[in-house]
Amino acid sequence: MRAIRRFTVRTVLPPQLAPLGELVQNLRWSWHPETMDLFAEVDPEVWERVDHDPVALLGAVEAERLRELAQDRRFLRRLADAADDLREYMTAPRWYQSLDGAPAAIGYFSPEYGIAAALPQYSGGLGILAGDHLKAASDLGVPILGVGLLYRHGYFTQSLSPEGWQLEHYPSLDPGGLPLTLLKEEDGSPARIRINLPGARTLHAQVWVAQVGRVPLLLLDSDVAENDAAARDVTDRLYGGGGDHRLVQELLLGIGGVRAIRAYCRITGHPEPEVFHTNEGHAGFLGLERIRELTEARLSFEEALEAVRAGTVFTTHTPVPAGIDRFPIDMIARQFGGSNAWPTVAVDRILELGAEPDGPDKDPSVFNMAVMGMRLAQRVNGVSELHGRVSREMFQGLWPGFDVDEVPIGSITNGVHAPTWVGREMMELAGGELSSMIDMAQGWDSVQKLSEADIWRIRGQLRTRLVEEARERMKRSWRQRGASDAELTWVDEALDPDVLTIGFARRVPSYKRLTLMLSDPDRLRRLLLDPDKPVQIVIAGKAHPADEGGKKFIQQIVRFADSEDVRHRIVFLPDYDMALGRLMVTGSDVWMNNPLRPLEACGTSGMKAALNGGLNLSIRDGWWDEWYDGNNGWAIPTADGVDDPGRRDELEANALYDLIEREVADRFYDRAPDGLPRRWLEMVRHTLSSLGPKVLAGRMLHDYVVQLYTPAAGSARALVGDGYENAKLFAAWKLRVARAWPGVRVEHVEATGIGDTPELGARLELRATIALGDLSPEDLQVQAAYGRVGAQDELIAPSHVTLKADSVDDDGRAHYTGVVPLDRTGAFGYTVRAVPSHPLMASPAELGLIAVPEEPVGMTNGTLR
Ligand SMILES: *Cc1c(COP(=O)(O)O)cnc(C)c1O
Repeated sequence: MRAIRRFTVRTVLPPQLAPLGELVQNLRWSWHPETMDLFAEVDPEVWERVDHDPVALLGAVEAERLRELAQDRRFLRRLADAADDLREYMTAPRWYQSLDGAPAAIGYFSPEYGIAAALPQYSGGLGILAGDHLKAASDLGVPILGVGLLYRHGYFTQSLSPEGWQLEHYPSLDPGGLPLTLLKEEDGSPARIRINLPGARTLHAQVWVAQVGRVPLLLLDSDVAENDAAARDVTDRLYGGGGDHRLVQELLLGIGGVRAIRAYCRITGHPEPEVFHTNEGHAGFLGLERIRELTEARLSFEEALEAVRAGTVFTTHTPVPAGIDRFPIDMIARQFGGSNAWPTVAVDRILELGAEPDGPDKDPSVFNMAVMGMRLAQRVNGVSELHGRVSREMFQGLWPGFDVDEVPIGSITNGVHAPTWVGREMMELAGGELSSMIDMAQGWDSVQKLSEADIWRIRGQLRTRLVEEARERMKRSWRQRGASDAELTWVDEALDPDVLTIGFARRVPSYKRLTLMLSDPDRLRRLLLDPDKPVQIVIAGKAHPADEGGKKFIQQIVRFADSEDVRHRIVFLPDYDMALGRLMVTGSDVWMNNPLRPLEACGTSGMKAALNGGLNLSIRDGWWDEWYDGNNGWAIPTADGVDDPGRRDELEANALYDLIEREVADRFYDRAPDGLPRRWLEMVRHTLSSLGPKVLAGRMLHDYVVQLYTPAAGSARALVGDGYENAKLFAAWKLRVARAWPGVRVEHVEATGIGDTPELGARLELRATIALGDLSPEDLQVQAAYGRVGAQDELIAPSHVTLKADSVDDDGRAHYTGVVPLDRTGAFGYTVRAVPSHPLMASPAELGLIAVPEEPVGMTNGTLR
């Protein structure tokens, strides 16, 4: 018989133990081992049984044991110290509190969060990144308010069938059994969020608050009594259903999320966000809700749009076109039109925001969430330098007329939260020296002072832990697959704590090429079984439930790993989650990654490995393209430009085998007389000191605050003040400029000052005549672009100088002058262009308007000697 409803009855703690409740409710424990030690002491045996889940611990521990602890002076003292430590962590000024002009609060929206294995609200990198973002924000005192959904079945757990096929199970999560508190009004009733749906339906949701250190995370949950059955299931699963289901989830996240923030700030007095950060397109409706709020406060759509854009940051996460979130236009029209339309926001305006720009890839029948995200945010970024470049190409159509380099999409490379991902032994190395470095992102040079013997000893401990835990997991998996214990004695000998260990764990979309290592099974077998320099490989990964192809890849790996001759050297561990991820990134000597370049936007698991002294062996994609320096790991050569995918895989797989055989294994097994692999350890140290400061989530947060949040707050304040006066002026100016722009022309350009044989150091004096149409000189900027030119006279990464307006004729022609320095030899060219100009613009390309000469001007291509 199945229960129709489940809930968790919480323990009533004796008053002396009340601080224990506070410690459990604050997820800071997930990155604070000292707090975990205290939990273990509550009841070591129960602690193991509940898999180190503090809420489950309090539910499972006997009342008698709690009474005992309430009398235990030593325990109470430790408890008081831990509670004090948390209070101090929560309130002391930190890095952010020393800044000027930074926003009072930032709303951060993400469809998934990886905070702890006990809160399975993530499927992969996007969620893990969001979790690390919140934790690092907490450590640095960045006042983020997180917003997400509470999925009642989270993401699936994975096991294997006897044939090695992925099986999915969706655990039933009960918020009462999670470290969450329900947001309540002052009268004690649960706060309610409502969204109107077509057909006169209303979606209701409640709001759970997870306290992630200093950062509150609001999770909306539609499983409430007022909802019909379909509406209750809106937040059932992460990325579970089809289009309609996903749309309602995203409405709840974006629109409901803003409403949840308003409720939370009203009830708790928390400052309202000045900046909103949209983490990937799924959360994009938040901008529409804020436009609705402002239009109800009597701003026009355009004015509201400007005010919202100024304070919005949008981060794109995928260079895979198929990964972009899109809905059929009809679905959006039904939600925001007809009888369900918002009175102050016309549905056509909303549809325009998500319309794909003109071009060969335009699909007029879809509403594109990434495109809307970019139109609703004045500041946009990708998540590594390479991904920034790819995104500028991918979305160039939104800024027609501008060269790809000028497309206003920047990049901030992802980072990882060290206290979450670094093994405790490694953190404690050098008497805590490393842990203070990890906070400050500085002082990494002192890694050079760590003794090689210490590093090697700790690496050995971490590898041994991986081997032992992997054996346990293998047994569990084999039992589930129907094996008896008698058949499993070999597992005790599987893997070897002294063998070079390669880790490979990730989601299994096809571009990540889980099975590349199987390209030549015999060669792989030889590497695994090499009598002198064997390697062992530990693999994990989940395929999306609807991805049959991904499940086939897993099955191929599992079948190979099942073979009797190699099963002690290559294993697939089911159910990749944060706990298994941490085990693998801490215990692996080498972290392998072989995506199809450039489809991995950033990747973060290799960063986690690096912080643990693991060495990366990876295709130069995402972050590794940027920070591989020739000595901090290995780059697998890519066969970019080889069009036949099979051939490309083969080439790259061979390069991978070669590297493992000739370089990686060689270095690992090259031992000095004292047993230490000196050349290996040199590389480990160099990895720690070169990558350590860069890969930290603290560095990432610093970059977001300085490069995006603070400038966005500045723009937002400029527009919001004085009753939105500047928002009104800016919107009116944009309309006027856009209308008048067809009248702007670069009519004539003259160059003097360099004679017939231009020489380095000469100065080219430019005089340009611009027809202004109905605009005045203040409305635009005239620039010379100059520098190296390519074979088609195209300027390559040009520099710009602004020309000065000398005079304006009565007929609306203006004359501009300026000087271009001939600062490089070789093929050199220049041109002149006009772009709109306004102090509230964040980039010259913002309006997507540009005027360039119709005919090539003067000397576009002289050669300097
Ligand atoms: C770090 C992590 C990821 C993301 O890693 P990638 O390098 O982007 O694949 C995904 N899942 C889990 C469980 C992780 O810990």
